[in-house]
Amino acid sequence: MFGERLGLEDFFILNGACPFSFCYECFLLYECGMALRRVCIVGSGPGGFYVAENVLQKFPSCRVEMMESLPVPFGLVRFGVAPDHPEVKAVSKVFSKLAQNDRFRFWGNVTLGADVSVKDLVRNGACDAVVLAYGASEDRLLGIRGEEVCLEEQAASQKKKKNNKKMDERSGSAQDISNSIVSARDFVAWYNGHPRPQSELDSLDAIFTARLTGSEKAVVVGNGNVALDCARMLLANSEYLGKYDCPPPVVDILGRSTIQEVAIVGRRGPIQSSFTNKELREMLDLAKSGAFALHVAPEELALNDASTAEKDADRPKKRQWDLWTQIGQQASSAAAGSKKRCTFRFLTSPTSYQDGRLSLQPCVLKGEPNRQRSVPTGSEPEIVSSSLVLRSIGYASKKLDADVPFDAERRIVPSDRGYVQDHVFVSGWLKRGPSGIIGTNKWDADETVQTMVEKAIQNSAYCPHRFDELLAPLEGQIFRWSDVDRILEWEALQGYKIRSLEAMRKVTGKSE
Ligand SMILES: Cc1cc2nc3c(=O)[nH]c(=O)nc-3n(C[C@H](O)[C@H](O)[C@H](O)COP(=O)(O)OP(=O)(O)OC[C@H]3O[C@@H](n4cnc5c(N)ncnc54)[C@H](O)[C@@H]3O)c2cc1C
Repeated sequence: MFGERLGLEDFFILNGACPFSFCYECFLLYECGMALRRVCIVGSGPGGFYVAENVLQKFPSCRVEMMESLPVPFGLVRFGVAPDHPEVKAVSKVFSKLAQNDRFRFWGNVTLGADVSVKDLVRNGACDAVVLAYGASEDRLLGIRGEEVCLEEQAASQKKKKNNKKMDERSGSAQDISNSIVSARDFVAWYNGHPRPQSELDSLDAIFTARLTGSEKAVVVGNGNVALDCARMLLANSEYLGKYDCPPPVVDILGRSTIQEVAIVGRRGPIQSSFTNKELREMLDLAKSGAFALHVAPEELALNDASTAEKDADRPKKRQWDLWTQIGQQASSAAAGSKKRCTFRFLTSPTSYQDGRLSLQPCVLKGEPNRQRSVPTGSEPEIVSSSLVLRSIGYASKKLDADVPFDAERRIVPSDRGYVQDHVFVSGWLKRGPSGIIGTNKWDADETVQTMVEKAIQNSAYCPHRFDELLAPLEGQIFRWSDVDRILEWEALQGYKIRSLEAMRKVTGKSE
């Protein structure tokens, strides 16, 4: 599809740019004939908001429509970042300020793939460009025996819901998946108040009540910061949690948990882990304050020659090694008196989970520095009894639109610096995979919008009314920014998040 060529005068009128500040970027915009008029961003996490900020700056007359499947914005800033990291969540205030721009509109509770398609947006001329920033809403699997039970049973439970059969709230879905591994993504979403109908929240509360009171030990499989977040939440008491914005039922259930020990399991060693120094230091500080003890077996902390070479060649890893040394000494410190503890288990790989028994296979690292593989030693597996095993080995994106290419291996939408195909761009985790901190999405969005400056073209089918016409049939379900403001105000007043969809509708004055 070719864009419409504009005259230089039209360009300045449309773009609102001053002819006297005609810079290289303006020249590119003019040369490409692409003063974008309307951009639709799918997803309201950092990947989406940083693109919005950039588009509003770089295209001074362009309108930004942000579409989000949930009624409320901010993606993983709201539903991923741990509640005890309010200083990280504060970035949502910057996004809220941006949402006040006259050229920005929010369309909450509208789902790409269910309510609209890329074809609707592009071929029908609703906008000049679509930026996909819908993140990663699935997770990677361990591929071990016992995990398939979880998937089958969860699918069955979903089917039950679809058939509108009433859940047995007393034991229902809690029993359904009582033998299965739970995804850390589900646990994180639950403690962060991810919105759902009240009936589903009741089922989840029942599941986590059963899991958290079923044994004294929980296992988190995975060696990244999400595993540390989960461990902190599992070991926290209600006094600690009550300081943050966790929904009260979550504080209550976590407060009644019988979990005394969380084992964080990784098949490789400390040097190969993805923990960042900041989050590891936080664990040490909490241990020093007596919240829980930290433990790691000396033999699992020992480095082979290749791991020593990896450590010595990497400054952050070298600094992290000091932290591991301190953690190794924790057993003899004051915090060792604490009843609760977090144990790091390295060189240990889960092989099956059945009847609440997790089988852990001892491993050894083999290979050149930075290319070491974890290989089973062949010795007897260790059996750990636990009613809660969390799988925390990474989030994954999914294909949502038949007209957009998807790399099923890497679980991303493939692009050339954010350019996917005519009128379609990508940003955030969907573009580069589920890694990096919130700030990483800013650089990533800069790149995507720079590529839009170079490659985006006007949509010859564009009609200024088409976007509103497209969403008009969904009017009754849509949450606008004024609704978001009401929800955020209510939460600021109460000090905790609203999690039921019914309550969100009530607070915003929408009918059931
Ligand atoms: C548990 C966890 C904790 C983290 N903690 C930190 C931290 O402490 N500090 C830090 O810097 N980073 C942290 N991160 C990383 C950070 O959250 C991510 O880098 C960032 O959120 C990725 O942004 P994104 O916009 O690509 O995806 P997301 O934030 O996931 O946003 C995607 C949005 O798209 C929406 N969406 C999904 N499907 C559709 C659809 N079909 N239609 C419309 N909308 C859709 C989603 O609802 C969501 O709002 C954490 C990540 C996780 C998982």
